[in-house]
Amino acid sequence: MQASKNIAIVGSGLVGSLLAIYLRKSGHKVSVFDRRPDIRNIEFSGRSINLAMSDRGWKAMRNAGIENEVRKIAIPMEKRAIHLVGQPVYFQYYGDEGEAIYSISRGILNRKMIDLAEAQGAQFYFEEKVWDVSLPEATIFTGETERGAWKEYKFDMVFGADGAFSRIRHKMQRRSRFDYSQDFLDTGYKELHIPPNEDGTHKLNKNSLHIWPRGKFMLIALPNLDGSFTCTLFMPFEGDHSFEKLITDEQVKAFFKEYFPSAVPVMPTLLEDFKNNPMSALVTMKCYPWTYWDKVALVGDAAHAVVPFYGQGMNAGFEDITQLDELMKQHNDDWETIFSEYQRLRKPNADAIAELSYRNFVEMSAKTADPKFLLQKKIEKHFASKYPDKWEPLYERVTFSHRPYAEALAVGDMQNKIMEEIMAMTNIEDIWHEVEVEDRILELLSEVEIDKE
Ligand SMILES: Cc1cc2nc3c(=O)[nH]c(=O)nc-3n(C[C@H](O)[C@H](O)[C@H](O)COP(=O)(O)OP(=O)(O)OC[C@H]3O[C@@H](n4cnc5c(N)ncnc54)[C@H](O)[C@@H]3O)c2cc1C
Repeated sequence: MQASKNIAIVGSGLVGSLLAIYLRKSGHKVSVFDRRPDIRNIEFSGRSINLAMSDRGWKAMRNAGIENEVRKIAIPMEKRAIHLVGQPVYFQYYGDEGEAIYSISRGILNRKMIDLAEAQGAQFYFEEKVWDVSLPEATIFTGETERGAWKEYKFDMVFGADGAFSRIRHKMQRRSRFDYSQDFLDTGYKELHIPPNEDGTHKLNKNSLHIWPRGKFMLIALPNLDGSFTCTLFMPFEGDHSFEKLITDEQVKAFFKEYFPSAVPVMPTLLEDFKNNPMSALVTMKCYPWTYWDKVALVGDAAHAVVPFYGQGMNAGFEDITQLDELMKQHNDDWETIFSEYQRLRKPNADAIAELSYRNFVEMSAKTADPKFLLQKKIEKHFASKYPDKWEPLYERVTFSHRPYAEALAVGDMQNKIMEEIMAMTNIEDIWHEVEVEDRILELLSEVEIDKE
């Protein structure tokens, strides 16, 4: 057990509330501040934002003792269901048998974690927006408006878990040698809805993440417990096929009829949803350092926001907490070492998942419909099933393992290089499953091993 500290967490989102659980378990006094009202008292509109949880997230749930409860509200998705125009749905399994990612409601999960953190003794202060922080004093200032009267709270330590546009980070940015970058995609998103059948069953295959890839834009759908699906349309803001071109009902109807004909019959409220739901932007945010001495640290999206195409933003944030917990056990009361090791170990992995997430944007939108890419994935899968100790597909390494993201990126690049050569083999379409292809991959792999030495 560490010596008890008085700790503030700014942000009661997924990462902040999970951190509260871990810090309470280590014996600290924990106060969590959020600018929003208590999510447990807000009625969800029935339309829930859902996220894909994978192994890194589950590990953090398990160690916090909430895995079983969370499993009850999660729907396994063991495959991608790919919808191409004029063709039957095509299924692509994510991993081996029994491996799946899980669709989970962000709101329901957040409520559960706040409940649990409170049960552990964390104090929550809702509708308390943090406007400023004194880094050396670990003091936060809250209030209703930026110019109004502020309340002052002094702590031993402050964690910024206040999301991609973090106020705590904002203060750190004013320091010399603080690196910061923010990149918005030209693509944004809008949430849409597929309701359940009358008997409460799902209108599409329940255990799949549905994708309608269309080059520069795509529609995806994740299942909810009530039989509905939350759909997300990712599309450029401007240009030929873009949000700016979909203004009138007629334009929206014609667009969906042409590009998503199989989705239209299951989306009875399409026009209403399209008009009412906001268009949102997608950002990659990187910064460094993530800590200020042993006083302040950033976690989750406040430290590293990524675009959502690998389904890893929350998972990466949860892994920050797993890492912090391991370091707390290792270094006990030496918080300066805990913080410096935390940022040293996590930063390269955060950068790697940012890169992988961006690349998966290209892969999901453009390549999942490309026959050559599909063949490449088939060859990789075939080879991996025969030589599991020699080839772990990138997606599986990111999603179903706990190996560092940075390692996944490096191994993935090496595999891509090999596959470029394989795909250039004459008649690869006809010979892909033959032993000569396997032998060539083995040979190229052994060359890489030699290179490494
Ligand atoms: C479209 C989309 C799909 C996604 N899909 C996935 C997915 O499938 N899998 C996955 O792992 N991740 C996914 N993500 C990413 C995931 O949502 C985030 O990584 C995760 O929610 C980050 O959690 P957080 O607690 O760090 O930040 P947030 O969830 O942003 O929480 C921050 C909290 O801080 C509070 N706050 C902010 N400022 C202040 C302030 N000044 N004072 C007090 N409180 C404040 C906010 O009210 C909020 O409660 C997706 C993201 C998007 C946009």
